Amino acid sequence: MAEAPESVAAYPKVILHAKRASPFYARHPWVYPGPIDRVEGEPADGGIVDVAAANGSFIARGLFNSRSKIRVRLLSWDESQPLDEAFFRVRLSQAISLREALGFRHPGASCRLVFSEADRLPGLVVDDYAGWLVIQVTSLGLVQRLDLLVEILDDLLHPRGIYLKTDAGMARLEGMETTDRLLRGEIPPPGLMIEENGLHFEVDLTQGQKTGYYLDQRDNRQLVARFAPGRRVLDLFCYAGGFGLHAAKAGATHVEFVDGSEHAVELARKNALVNGLTGDNTFVKADAFKYLEAQVIARRRFDLVVLDPPKFARSANTVGEALNGYRRLYSLGMRLLEPGGILAVCCCSGLILPAMIDELLGRLASSERRDIQVLTKLTQPPDHPVAVTCPESAYLKGYICRVV
Ligand code: SAH
Repeated sequence: MAEAPESVAAYPKVILHAKRASPFYARHPWVYPGPIDRVEGEPADGGIVDVAAANGSFIARGLFNSRSKIRVRLLSWDESQPLDEAFFRVRLSQAISLREALGFRHPGASCRLVFSEADRLPGLVVDDYAGWLVIQVTSLGLVQRLDLLVEILDDLLHPRGIYLKTDAGMARLEGMETTDRLLRGEIPPPGLMIEENGLHFEVDLTQGQKTGYYLDQRDNRQLVARFAPGRRVLDLFCYAGGFGLHAAKAGATHVEFVDGSEHAVELARKNALVNGLTGDNTFVKADAFKYLEAQVIARRRFDLVVLDPPKFARSANTVGEALNGYRRLYSLGMRLLEPGGILAVCCCSGLILPAMIDELLGRLASSERRDIQVLTKLTQPPDHPVAVTCPESAYLKGYICRVV
């Protein structure tokens, strides 16, 4: 067997318990404390470690973090591969070349350029908004390598600017502190417009949610809009108005946009104006659950209800609670539907598997005494790929249903 090169020979080792190694041979990228027997050497948080079987043989290489429940994020299963500049350059180039092949690299285009585990760079998200990049880093090891990543992205893409956006919840889980800031080039301008399916959306990259917009629902907004002509639509959790504006453009008679954030409601209102969709639309700032309960009591009815809530499950121990939340939400939404109405529901929690939502809808049909027909299943678009070895990367699930 060839000797490992000098540079990779001396990494500290994370040794797994006997019989706990199979997920990592199967290339799952997250090592939780449970399977770990002991750590040999003294890895720094964010430093490189080798994960090894009980007999000491190499399984994979990754970045260590004692402060995170994910103790090691695995990046390579090749023992001869150092996690150096060349490694990150190749991984980033491969991610970018996929988006090139998908036709997302023309001037003015917006897409997700790097999607974490699914692009074999766990903890790194890079979105391109018409030439401005927004980066989210949810791994301490990658935060420590931010300068290197920015250098490579700048070199490969020549963006107008690169901005770092922090996800406070994830930063806490990872035990790190980052602040939103400009990393390179120009600050993304306020009022930046992007195009999606022939509509224009103002996106706020520095003050907006997540990286500024939800690019992952691009195709789903079109699929839902097919059911909108002639219908009264409720777009709950509307954010910038993505679903509702696609519905209005497709010929909905009325769209009610609701979001708990004032900023989101204003963005949706602005985007309706920008697109000349100034018909019979209303914009409401309200808590979704309270709003739904009030509409049920007022016996209001819609023909198409879109429910696209934020992620309810952030860690494995909140999955049960999150499922209760989705169930409550979907059942309230159903009660606002005319018989034969369309319910479009989404769930973007990676920890909640599609089968769990299938089961939930089945139980709802019986508890609400309504028949639910699934017409279209929604998923994530190809610039948000799924790693088959990391089921959690298949995070976006949705159903367009007729409720009879
Ligand atoms: N449907 C949107 C994306 C929704 S993201 C699109 O197509 O782009 C989730 C949205 O839910 C955010 O805008 C957030 O402000 C809103 N939100 C979160 N909790 C809420 C609550 N309890 N009530 C109402 N809106 C809420």
